[in-house]
Amino acid sequence: MSALYQVGIVGAGFGGIIAAIELLKSGRHSFIIFEKAGDIGGVWRNNIYPGCGCDVRSDFYSIKSQPNPNWSEHFSQRKEILDYLDHVVEKQQLKKYIRFNTEVGEARFLPAEGCWQITDQHFSTCKVKILILATGPFRLPQIPKPDGIEKFKGTSFHSANWDNNLKLESLNVAVIGTGSSSAQIVPAIAGKVKNLYVFQRSPAWVLPKWNGRSSKIKIAAYRRFPALQKISRELNYWFLEWIGLLFFSKRFMHRLITWLAKNKLSKEVKDPLTRQLLTPTYAVGCKRIILSDDFYPAFNLPHVKLITGAIQSVDEHSIVVDNTKFKVDVIVFATGFKVADIEQYIRIIGLEGAELGNQWEQSKPKAFLGINVAGYPNLCFQLGPNSGLYHSSVLHVIESQMVYILQYVALLESRGDHAVIDVKADRQQAYNNQIDHELTKTVWNGCHSWYLNKRGENVVLYPHLTWHYRKHTRKIDPSDYKIITSYKIAEQEMLTSRF
Ligand code: NAP
Repeated sequence: MSALYQVGIVGAGFGGIIAAIELLKSGRHSFIIFEKAGDIGGVWRNNIYPGCGCDVRSDFYSIKSQPNPNWSEHFSQRKEILDYLDHVVEKQQLKKYIRFNTEVGEARFLPAEGCWQITDQHFSTCKVKILILATGPFRLPQIPKPDGIEKFKGTSFHSANWDNNLKLESLNVAVIGTGSSSAQIVPAIAGKVKNLYVFQRSPAWVLPKWNGRSSKIKIAAYRRFPALQKISRELNYWFLEWIGLLFFSKRFMHRLITWLAKNKLSKEVKDPLTRQLLTPTYAVGCKRIILSDDFYPAFNLPHVKLITGAIQSVDEHSIVVDNTKFKVDVIVFATGFKVADIEQYIRIIGLEGAELGNQWEQSKPKAFLGINVAGYPNLCFQLGPNSGLYHSSVLHVIESQMVYILQYVALLESRGDHAVIDVKADRQQAYNNQIDHELTKTVWNGCHSWYLNKRGENVVLYPHLTWHYRKHTRKIDPSDYKIITSYKIAEQEMLTSRF
């Protein structure tokens, strides 16, 4: 075997770190993590905008095997999450496995050697037997280009590229978008700026967050009796699973959540017109629901304005909507990420020179359990096609996937050093047929959202609750895979397309 490492992981965010911890727990030390930045943390490292935090409660938004009794709030801010991750990496001594400042440009499966060749931005190569892609869905900012933006003399940037040196005091600021990031940025900066214009294309449904500081008693109790935090985690989990029923058109849930959201809106926004403009016209749950208790009240401030017309153009100092100019010094594009339209962030070359990006560009991205893709052996995705979620902690899904991936690795290892494993195309197709059928029954078809690609296909979400996904990823079925025990045989088989 010519691979240098048994496992290569791309990304040192939560996903890569969970993968590394699970590999170590299973007694595997031959792995490497490629990280394009100089530090760990993924989205929590990149997104430094004011107010950035998590909308899943911390007891649940943490790695199951690494509980933290010390969370200072029910919902943590990014800094505390990043400190937690740093602490985990330190405790597990993971830094020595990470190759920082290494941006993977290409991953190429070498049939003759039965391994992946990874090429980074400096054209250095490294071979790994199994590749795990833990790059996360929110890596590519989506930045609109309104007419005339190149003439703008002020500062403009995407929410994921916030400039911490920028002083917003006494400036006129525009925030484009009213999604999850905007809902955190707007209240965080509203008190500082001269004027704040929030440009809304479609309103979001907003539910109460009910955040608060953790009491000293709670922290002490969690430290003394870790089982209490486990119980809280379980309760959080099952509460969110219950909320998840909403997405499958359960009428009672739909009515209840709509009532809660409308009630909140009418209590928190004073001006009737603003209230009306903030009321969504699509079914609750169709887009990601926002949890916030300070987003709506920001619109009661006299210098915060909601603008709902389409942006016509931008000139040197203004944004123009319906022939009205809004003078701005800073434009923040809180316009989300390219999630459903797969960008070729890494060129992935599988059997017979097939390129995954091209394949997924031409027809709906498909994977088996969101993890393996036929024709790309010894490769596992975290949060691959249709394994994302909308209502719970993404870490729960990643942990389910790692249970499965470890069995996949063990299956491969059990067949000797030269084994190659590829999911059967017909099993992948049957699985995806089922997913597509289930998707037709969900609430996500009634509006446009980042769950849908440009063809209107939902390639992001898993159309069931997370307990269902966990059940399906609990045990690998070797009959779903073609396993070749010698790469020399594999090479022959591949040449005759019978692999
Ligand atoms: P987002 O939810 O996709 O919201 C983007 C916003 O920008 C939407 O209001 C969208 O309007 C608007 N927009 C997009 N393109 C536009 C254009 N060309 N002109 C005008 N408006 C435009 O993005 P996000 O807020 O960055 O959040 C992305 C995801 O990250 C979230 O859904 C969530 O999963 C995650 N996130 C999580 C947290 C957390 O607390 N854990 C915090 C932030 C983000 P339309 O709705 O009309 O498309």
